[in-house]
Amino acid sequence: MQDLNTEFIERVRDMHEGDTYVLTTHGCQMNEHDSEKIKTLLDTMGFREIDDENEADLAIINTCSVRHSAEDKVIGHIGRLKHVKKKNKDLKVAVCGCMMQRKESRDYVLETFPHVDIVFGTNNIHRLPQLILESDDRNTTVVDIEQSYSNLDNRIFSKVDGHSAYVNIIYGCNNFCTYCIVPYTRGREISRSPEDILEEIEALVEDGVNEVTLLGQNVNSYGKTLEEKTTFAELLHMVHAIDGIDRIHFTTSHPKDVSDELIACYGELPKLANYLHLPVQSGSNDVLRAMNRHYTREDYFKLIDKLRAVRPDISLSTDIMVGFPGETDEDFEDTLDLVRRVRYDNAFTFIYSRREGTRADVMENQVPKSIKDERFQRLLDEVYAIQREKYEELHGTVQDVLFDSISKNDDSMMSGRTSGFKLVHAPYDADRIGKLTPVKITGGNTFSLRGEIVHATK
Ligand code: SF4
Repeated sequence: MQDLNTEFIERVRDMHEGDTYVLTTHGCQMNEHDSEKIKTLLDTMGFREIDDENEADLAIINTCSVRHSAEDKVIGHIGRLKHVKKKNKDLKVAVCGCMMQRKESRDYVLETFPHVDIVFGTNNIHRLPQLILESDDRNTTVVDIEQSYSNLDNRIFSKVDGHSAYVNIIYGCNNFCTYCIVPYTRGREISRSPEDILEEIEALVEDGVNEVTLLGQNVNSYGKTLEEKTTFAELLHMVHAIDGIDRIHFTTSHPKDVSDELIACYGELPKLANYLHLPVQSGSNDVLRAMNRHYTREDYFKLIDKLRAVRPDISLSTDIMVGFPGETDEDFEDTLDLVRRVRYDNAFTFIYSRREGTRADVMENQVPKSIKDERFQRLLDEVYAIQREKYEELHGTVQDVLFDSISKNDDSMMSGRTSGFKLVHAPYDADRIGKLTPVKITGGNTFSLRGEIVHATK
């Protein structure tokens, strides 16, 4: 953790070495990654992670603001901590993340929950040591919100389960999809310099990482804010050139920014996972226009055709939302038609929910819940039927799987992902964890595959 304010870190360690913390994360991979940075900082300050808030010295909630329901969950959690704190007087409560970046939500928490000790945001995780020290000296809430992105948070190199790591490449979003709050909480797009990103990945490789996921709300518009222009495809080539990296993923993409240069990478870069998550949201041009997505279903089909021309077996996933204001039966049929034509390997499906502060929230023709639910079920049936066929197509094939860990539900098995991001379980072999391994697929279901390791014949 180069050039982070070590003086504050040491002072916190003097005061809190051995203290325990519970960190709860809500929301997306960006938040997951921010939580890893918070953990790395706390570990460096001598804190120890536990999972019982009744016993902890510090409870941190990393919040999400993407839907009202996400905020309600957080509010409930903060409320519960008030009672925990009555019994566990030394408990320090900290709240961070997207919800705290939103003034309305932050003010509500500060007015309603005086038992919260620290409030910080998505752009100043590196300030946590100072905030803990300030909070030690005060019995009022310490609030520190940075509206603009700070590169200092990137100096906290964190990793997950040994061989895999997320690496932020771009922050914020300029797209203003009408249902989304992210541009209001995470701010405008800012790209990290390629040098910064490569330095972090090289440090992670030295630390045993061989798989990276390049992260951003919209990675395809990487480089637009850089003085020396570097495109996302160029950055992928640079990361691909790093020795020790075996597999590269990236998320999240926006169809309006998928370039031919990026599509060509799927033919040029063998370490690039044979997988693309490309949120479509709807198959109806009227709904796409109302969502402010800046592409049509025809544009989207062209992209898919180009991708499959370069990698016919590319694995595709997407995000689809039903029940957007004004969505008619015909619009929904267009969505089902698009799903049948693209045939996704998997899809993340959502029911539109109103989000205060977004343009869609004040739109007319909000769709009744009963219709949303009925469409959602029909969408699931369509998506899962195709997904099952896609998983069955791999039975009998040999796939390169990067195993992560012991399987969650069976410790005689281990689990990992194919290059197409499909989940595979195989008999546990400690030597194969973190290594690309040829696996003969012997069976599975709609959501995962089973297989046997193919041992090299002498
Ligand atoms: S691209 Fe749209 S949905 Fe994604 S974060 Fe940006 S505004 Fe939200």
